[in-house]
Amino acid sequence: GGPLGSLGKSRAKFISAEETTGVTFDDFAGQEYIKRELQEIVRILKNDEEFQSKGIYCPKGVLLHGPPGTGKTLLAKAIAGEAGVPFFAATGTDFVEMFVGVAASRVKDLFASARSFAPSIIFIDEIDAIGSKRGGPDLGGGGAEREQGLLQILTEMDGFKVSTSQVLVIGATNRLDILDPALLRKGRFDKIIRVGLPSKDGRLAILQVHAKNKFFRSEEEKNTLLQEIAENSVDFTGAELQNVLNEAGILTARKDLDYIGREELLEALKRQKGTFETGQEDSTEIPEELKLRLAYREAAVAVLACYYPNPYRPFTETDIRSIRSRPNLRYAEISGKVFSKKSDFVNSIVHACAPRVIEEEMFGIDNLCWISAKATSEASRRAEFLILQTGMTAFGKTFYRNQSDLVPNLAAKLEALRDEYMRFAVEKCSSVLNEYHFSVETITDILLEKGEIKAEEIWDIYKKAPRIPQPPVPL
Ligand code: ADP
Repeated sequence: GGPLGSLGKSRAKFISAEETTGVTFDDFAGQEYIKRELQEIVRILKNDEEFQSKGIYCPKGVLLHGPPGTGKTLLAKAIAGEAGVPFFAATGTDFVEMFVGVAASRVKDLFASARSFAPSIIFIDEIDAIGSKRGGPDLGGGGAEREQGLLQILTEMDGFKVSTSQVLVIGATNRLDILDPALLRKGRFDKIIRVGLPSKDGRLAILQVHAKNKFFRSEEEKNTLLQEIAENSVDFTGAELQNVLNEAGILTARKDLDYIGREELLEALKRQKGTFETGQEDSTEIPEELKLRLAYREAAVAVLACYYPNPYRPFTETDIRSIRSRPNLRYAEISGKVFSKKSDFVNSIVHACAPRVIEEEMFGIDNLCWISAKATSEASRRAEFLILQTGMTAFGKTFYRNQSDLVPNLAAKLEALRDEYMRFAVEKCSSVLNEYHFSVETITDILLEKGEIKAEEIWDIYKKAPRIPQPPVPL
């Protein structure tokens, strides 16, 4: 149809264009503060001229970062939808897979199109594919190509005059750590928003959004069921929660039932938990070596969970039937008078190191694989949280909202202290795993043999297996 119709088609291979998305902030649930932050941008985009006359300009770039499936694309579309402006989307990887010289001209095309429809939004998903640190390791290949694409993005962003037409560039990534710092400089992506995993209340809100077009016996039953799912879906993303409801709908239809019931929902939840991140579903196809690595990982995580027991979040079981970048150990949430002490934060850093420490121990530093990769970032993130946001360390009593608040010498101080906590966490984790070496081996054997192990059996092994005394680890 409309003015963008032909444009959308001619560039369909790498740019998709929509007059506007029709998505609103109501479609994104949980993490209300993110919506509040973005609302302001929408107001500026909408009343371009009015704000400009007051000297208020829209930021040029917003960077959304967080794990896949947390709703970054959805948020970008909601900004366009709320402001009623055209939406141009491309993916970072699209820019790099073609011939030399193409990446830069594609970027140029994209910006030219968006500018001619300003105010408008450009969304670049997986921006790390094109915007990773220059001169760093060439992870995806196509280094020169990528560099040209990145330079072109920087040129384009520096090129718009804020006083003329507004083009807001929204980038999304789950690898903030590898982005070229040039992208994050003032006047480029200077608004950085983390889109994290939803909390329990967030999960409930997301489930409510996606349950709107589904049939339940009654409003009351729906609320009770969704509450139960929210409680049992720790670490799920919005996309995964949506899948649970869709899957439950399919199961309901298959059984020729009129309403989604508890049984269908729990079955769908179980399936979602067991789904591989790779999209495979048949567990018999996990290669033997990966099974062994998964078993060691789960055993190590389980032993740490015994070593630092959490009365409010006891673990229930684990298995090696699914390959995820996070441990499969499952927890029950018991509400109680939960309050976290400094030691709890520190212990959780140690615990988070387990997948990485055991994999290095068993398979060697040069033979690590991706199933322990997330542990490193998770542990560092926790250490950073403890230092920056709790006021419980030598770092001081000031609250720092994010790293961009840091003046240079504070950044160095943070890094030194984080290194210190990470060193302790890795050494302590390694010491616990050595002390409970026999428990780790026994749990691993059971996992390999049976595929799963329950909490009672883990506790039994942990308490009874011989221990190898270790020297204390000082912090
Ligand atoms: P990302 O871009 O972060 O990988 P997406 O925006 O593609 O994630 O999310 C995929 C889908 O998951 C969305 O289209 C939406 O249906 C659902 N979803 C994810 N997060 C949320 C959320 N917070 N609220 C509602 N739905 C969500």
